[in-house]
Amino acid sequence: MRYLITGGAGFIGSHLTKCLLDDGHEVHVLDNLSTGRRDNVQQWTGDDAFTLTIGNVLNEHTLEQCVESCDRIVHLAAAVGVKRVMEKPVETIQTNVGGTENVLQMARYHDKKTLLASTSEIYGKAMQTNPSLDALSEDGDWTLGTTSKRRWAYACSKAMDEFLAQAYYDEYDLPVICVRFFNTVGPGQSSRYGMVIPNFVERALEERPIQVYGDGTQTRCFTHVHDAVRAVRRLLNEPAAEGEVFNVGRPEEVSINRLAERVKNRVGSSSTITHVPYDEVYGPGFEDMRRRTPDITKLQDTVDFAPSHSLEDILRDVVAEMNVASDGGGQEKQKPSDPALEQ
Ligand code: UDP
Repeated sequence: MRYLITGGAGFIGSHLTKCLLDDGHEVHVLDNLSTGRRDNVQQWTGDDAFTLTIGNVLNEHTLEQCVESCDRIVHLAAAVGVKRVMEKPVETIQTNVGGTENVLQMARYHDKKTLLASTSEIYGKAMQTNPSLDALSEDGDWTLGTTSKRRWAYACSKAMDEFLAQAYYDEYDLPVICVRFFNTVGPGQSSRYGMVIPNFVERALEERPIQVYGDGTQTRCFTHVHDAVRAVRRLLNEPAAEGEVFNVGRPEEVSINRLAERVKNRVGSSSTITHVPYDEVYGPGFEDMRRRTPDITKLQDTVDFAPSHSLEDILRDVVAEMNVASDGGGQEKQKPSDPALEQ
């Protein structure tokens, strides 16, 4: 099977590429290298089963050439990270809405099954407005902030992608699956786009202050990228997943304060843990969500999936990888686990 992965040089995309190639599939990556990195896919240059096209999903001609020759599409190309979304709101909306529209149009024209990456961000403040909620399920209501709060543009653009995907499924019978990723982390994730775990680990390794934004009582549930990729593969092979939306996450909740302590302990760092007001980081009026916990019953019922990596596993792998990177690959202190990504 030949897969087109848009955004395949990014963090999740490069893990998925590895996994599919290991399984004997062919992979064509389309990436404009805006947040993805050539380094992430460099190792497969020269491999007959791998093709890299540097290009943008907004360019219909390039996209069509890639779509024509594939069997399935995994559309991951998107503006990522709250920091980037705050800095580049126009690019975020254009890439997320325009890019997905192009991919779906092309997928319909050439009749290709498509999996679309969405985000847990679209639940917005649902757990704040409904404090009795233990977890977020796919068919629950969301609460997003007003349009003057830039953060919500990301959620809204991804929600539009999901509406479009559903419309293509309903009106044109396009086999399409949407996946809402919950804080996917793991080795290879850059600290550049503001994600909390690579930032905390980097600072702990450099003995710089670990910066917790807000009061640190907000919680998140982190998913190991190996689990996320495993879930994606199963969903792609399950006909009952078509026309559906799935949470992909691990419902182990941790406060950002506790996360900072755990990173510090794991690294054995003497970094201090400081608190920085949101306004100083993201500008005035920034809204964060207090909790974001996935209900993964639907995923479990549909593809019998259970995440197998704990937060401790995630921290071990990220610290090991960043340790090696900061040593220039010289002194390897720990090896990241490389569990078989079994079907
Ligand atoms: N965060 C933090 N310090 C950082 C980066 C992020 O305290 O250096 C906080 C952020 O405000 C949020 C949580 O950690 O409450 C997760 O942030 P991230 O950007 O990784 O993902 P989000 O869940 O916000 O999309």
